Amino acid sequence: MSTITQYANQYVLDLVAYQPGKPIEETARELGLNASDIVKLASNENSLGPSPKAVQAMQQAAMGAHIYPDGASFALRSKLAGMFGVDFKQTVVGSGSSEIIELLCHACLHEGIELMAAKHSFSMYPIMCKLFGAKYVEVENKADWSHDLMAMLKAITPQTRLIFITNPTNPVGTMVFQEEMDAFMAQVPEHVIVAFDEAYIDFADVKPDTIKYVKQGKNVILLRTFSKAYGLAGLRAGYGITTPEIADLLNKARTPFNMNLMAQAATVAALDDKEHLEASVRMVAKGKKQFYTAFEQWGIEYIPSHGNFILVKTGRGRDVFNACLAKGVILRHMDGYGLPEYIRITVGNEKENSRCLEVLREVLK
Ligand SMILES: *Cc1c(COP(=O)(O)O)cnc(C)c1O
Repeated sequence: MSTITQYANQYVLDLVAYQPGKPIEETARELGLNASDIVKLASNENSLGPSPKAVQAMQQAAMGAHIYPDGASFALRSKLAGMFGVDFKQTVVGSGSSEIIELLCHACLHEGIELMAAKHSFSMYPIMCKLFGAKYVEVENKADWSHDLMAMLKAITPQTRLIFITNPTNPVGTMVFQEEMDAFMAQVPEHVIVAFDEAYIDFADVKPDTIKYVKQGKNVILLRTFSKAYGLAGLRAGYGITTPEIADLLNKARTPFNMNLMAQAATVAALDDKEHLEASVRMVAKGKKQFYTAFEQWGIEYIPSHGNFILVKTGRGRDVFNACLAKGVILRHMDGYGLPEYIRITVGNEKENSRCLEVLREVLK
């Protein structure tokens, strides 16, 4: 008997779908608890919640939900252009920066072409890469777990079309800095697009200048998201800043209304709410200290993080994940990232962090 799957693309059949953090409602149902009793520190979300200004903008926008949104996202893109000192034509927006990653793949990947990223980086890259039948090239990190940009340079072939520099990188939490980046950018050949995935850059104390590469006309794109520091993960909003040429390619590849009405309204308001952004960053900095202090007391290895999450070496990551889950704390095991000895903890508010530490302590005893 024939099934429709025999007609599907083989590289789609071969894919393993992205594994998101376990949802709070599902966990509550399974444990017979209230959703409010569950602590989720699994998806690098922002425990502070969204900016009240963004919420207000969404409420106002909701009354106009029967009309298609502005397909050009004029207000948001104009604001971004002003913020970065680039032309409107150099901005791209999307339903999360994940969509912009997908658009980049649409623009340049196909069979025989290569996408390069560092080992243990964001799992969306290999998924997207394989979706387009391209080859995924993974480059080992340096001993301190940061991207080895010189090794990445050496791994470039005539088939390499797209390189992701995740800065800070998820789930490891390390960064690369200006000098290494400049040396790398000076040597990247012109047939390669370098995507600086800066989803966590707001949490980093030092923010390397990547916009200068865009202004120099290099084939570069900066990717940013509203999902992390801005606390708008549920909305799905992200953007890219790039050359007019690359922006044009991505705008051709997108669907006409890829950023919804609420997202356009909320993000414009969120960009104006500096207090909220600063409060998010402060909460995370404080929370990281809370975790580090405990891990040092317990003698547990962790990787100091420039993001809003910490990779912790607990041993038997999946077992630790399951044991914490049974106690109502959702973390992330790292099996899918090739790090079975580790769990990743998102830094939440003080109460959530304390609950997480309490449960971890029981589990690790
Ligand atoms: C969270 C994350 C993103 C952005 O995700 P969206 O919610 O789709 O904007 C991009 N890159 C990395 C490395 C991330 O961790």
